[in-house]
Amino acid sequence: MDLKIISAARNFDYQKGIWERKWKDGKYIKHFGADRAKAIMRYSSMPGTSRHHWGTDIDINDLSDSYFTSNAEGKKVYEWLTTHANSFGFYQTYTSKESGRTGYEEEKWHWSYMPLAKQLLEAYNTQISYKAIVNFNGYESAEPLGAIDLYVNGIDANLK
Ligand SMILES: [Zn+2]
Repeated sequence: MDLKIISAARNFDYQKGIWERKWKDGKYIKHFGADRAKAIMRYSSMPGTSRHHWGTDIDINDLSDSYFTSNAEGKKVYEWLTTHANSFGFYQTYTSKESGRTGYEEEKWHWSYMPLAKQLLEAYNTQISYKAIVNFNGYESAEPLGAIDLYVNGIDANLK
C-alpha cells in the first residue's frame, strides 16, 4: 500500500500562515468576523487549536474527499486504512458527522496516533483555555464558535 505522509507536525506560526492566507483569500473574504472563521473551520484549524501541533497527527496521500471516494488508488488506500490502521494505533479523527460529531467536516486523510494523542487531548483540556487562543486574525471568534469545545473535542468517539 502506497501511504505518503503529506503533512505532520506544524507549529503555531506555520498554522497561523495557513489560517491567515485563507483569512485574506477571495473564497472567504466575502464573509465577516465569526462567519469567515466558521467557513475556514470547515477544514482548517485556528492556530493553537490544531492537533497537528501535537506531533501525533498526520495527513495521508491527498487532502480531498474525492481522492478517497472516486479515485481507484484512493479507494484502495482508504479501505486499507479503515481495515488495518487501528491495529497500528492510528484512528481517523474526523469521521462522518452523522453520528452527531461536531466541528470539522469529515477528513478521510487525517489520522491520529491514539495512544499519545489521547493523553495530549487530556492535557490540552486541562491546560489550554480560550485566553490562550490569540495573536491571529479572527481569534475573537474562537470562544463564540466553540473552537475548543466543538472542534478540538469534536473528534471520533474512539479517540476520547
Ligand atoms: Zn490534518
